[in-house]
Amino acid sequence: MYKTIICRYHEIATKGDNRSMFEEKLVDNMKYQCASLENIFFKRVRGRIYIRKKDASAFTEEELQTIREGLHRCSGLESFSPALECRPDMEEICSLVEQSIHEHFDPVLAVRPRVEFRVRARRSDKTFPLCSREIEIAVATRIEKLFGEEHLKVNLTHAEVTVGIEVRDVNALVYYTSYPGAGGLPVGSNSPVLALLSGGIDSPVACKLIMNRGCHVDYLTFHSYPYTPMESLEKVRRLAAILNRHQKPGTLYACNFSEIQKKIRDVCNPKFRTVLYRRYMMRLANMICRRKRLYAIVTGESVGQVASQTVINLGTIGNAAEYVVLRPLCGLDKMETIRRAEELGTFQTSIEDFPDSCTVFAPPSPSVAARLYRIEAEEALLGDMTELLERAYETLEISVDR
Ligand code: ATP
Ligand code: MG
Repeated sequence: MYKTIICRYHEIATKGDNRSMFEEKLVDNMKYQCASLENIFFKRVRGRIYIRKKDASAFTEEELQTIREGLHRCSGLESFSPALECRPDMEEICSLVEQSIHEHFDPVLAVRPRVEFRVRARRSDKTFPLCSREIEIAVATRIEKLFGEEHLKVNLTHAEVTVGIEVRDVNALVYYTSYPGAGGLPVGSNSPVLALLSGGIDSPVACKLIMNRGCHVDYLTFHSYPYTPMESLEKVRRLAAILNRHQKPGTLYACNFSEIQKKIRDVCNPKFRTVLYRRYMMRLANMICRRKRLYAIVTGESVGQVASQTVINLGTIGNAAEYVVLRPLCGLDKMETIRRAEELGTFQTSIEDFPDSCTVFAPPSPSVAARLYRIEAEEALLGDMTELLERAYETLEISVDR
């Protein structure tokens, strides 16, 4: 029945001269998400992208399901609707609505005396004899004739059923359902980044948020084998695999951090350990960004959540980074982050209880105000760490998961 899927974007539409680049990236991502369907094609038409079948047949329910799942993950896409098609003629549009509307109104009328509905029309062909408002009135009048006024109520804000109509110069489309895409901007439309991915709840959510701003994400995780079990790393691998469903697979870099931690434990004041660990994590992230051509470091830090995330400590940690540090969760509260982790499908994995690298040799009362001059004095005690950093870099293990 549905031969076309209308796909809409929002933020891209505000772009100027380089809008075409954003649209190409979006189509690229959509194709990737629907790659298992070989018999479809994508067509860009002013402000919309259409998906159709190469043989012009209707989508099967299974194909629609695959497309729904894929496009829901597609950043840059606002919403999409399976649509029916006819010629751009008012009589044809009305009779297409009359034929198809029962499927949507009858289930409501079976349980309630009235359907609350609205008609939403959009006319991109300005030579069409009726304007959008007039199309809406004409279609609503036909619907009233069909069901009787007593069974209907127009509700422009909270309609149970929306009858959508788009009129173009070559065709008209009628749809009833809109599904959400991931919104934001398409992955690949901004520079690639490196995310510090722990096994916790926060960093996977940070990765997804930054993908939605157009950045392809590679991941860096630190483990402290043998002080943390290999299961901790395996858990991060599974988180990366979930995240990779939302973009062309990013690489997971895993680095053994235990030698650096031991050195910090042996030489420095225990209350500064966590901040010192973080600064060395940043330095390894710098090396990877430089060598793998990535342009920002993403973390799941928020403000004030734990001792290492006071404003002063975040400043001291960020100071060791040579790249801009993006902290997409900065202003979110924990409940909101948890809600997003559940939606993303990472929450259940994140709460599996394995020790994290950061908890190794963690002090009982870490400093909440590790000022830079104090930390630099601690780092002076460590001496030249270049060799330890290079040795940690050599432990880099690489895997790509999907
Ligand atoms: P998360 O739930 O993401 O672990 P958190 O609230 O537990 O965050 P911390 O454990 O202090 O906070 O970590 C803050 C951020 O530092 C993480 O979001 C992550 O970006 C980075 N990070 C911490 N531990 C690691 C690790 N072992 N490997 C890679 N990155 C890490
Ligand atoms: Mg953590």
